[in-house]
Amino acid sequence: MSLSNDDDGIAARYKALRSQIPAHVRIVAVTKSQPAAAIEAALAAGVTEIGENYLQEAKPKFAAVAGDYAKHFIGHVQSNKAKAIVETFDMVQSVDRLEAGRALAKAAAAAGKRLPVLIQLNISPSERFGVRPEDAPELAGALRREPSLLVDGVMAIGPLGASRTETARAFELAAGVFGVVGGATLSLGMSDDWLEALRAGSTMVRLGSAIFGARPAPSRV
Ligand SMILES: *Cc1c(COP(=O)(O)O)cnc(C)c1O
Repeated sequence: MSLSNDDDGIAARYKALRSQIPAHVRIVAVTKSQPAAAIEAALAAGVTEIGENYLQEAKPKFAAVAGDYAKHFIGHVQSNKAKAIVETFDMVQSVDRLEAGRALAKAAAAAGKRLPVLIQLNISPSERFGVRPEDAPELAGALRREPSLLVDGVMAIGPLGASRTETARAFELAAGVFGVVGGATLSLGMSDDWLEALRAGSTMVRLGSAIFGARPAPSRV
């Protein structure tokens, strides 16, 4: 494979981030609105985990890119898409209600899989989705009764356009809930707030624009 300038940029940005982020913290490269070639470039640079928000966008891109990489669903889970989500992804980070979790459990059982999932918390007024932090332990408990799911921790999106202090406070709230829910994965931190996330104890950051550059205008709102 010959590398374009773009690919060199992706590799350089990923390597710089990887050197600044402790080795025990996983980096999920978020490729929404990027072409399949961006996934290829990321894998060539050493990325092993890819995140996508939209099932319809992810399916053809994953089909076009062979290789051994973990596929994370980080978008809103619609229950009627549970089967396709389970077939397409290795982990679902964005379970925020019982109905969606049960739909995933049913699809995973039918597929003979045990699906790792995270409970998505709402820690920000700018976010539409996510369970209220105080309701997360109950949701996690209910989903742990589903043998085809592995509830492995929590995920949250930081407040948009907030001060560093507000972001840090929101992440501390998420970390506290993670302590109650348990599991191995605290998925916190994106391109603009991964440093605050690391300070709060994140074990997994989800980086899009910091690796791939600015996204084209969002395809969906
Ligand atoms: C888009 C997105 C990301 C990556 O965002 P960047 O700011 O580009 O790093 C991470 N997590 C979720 C849930 C997203 O939707």
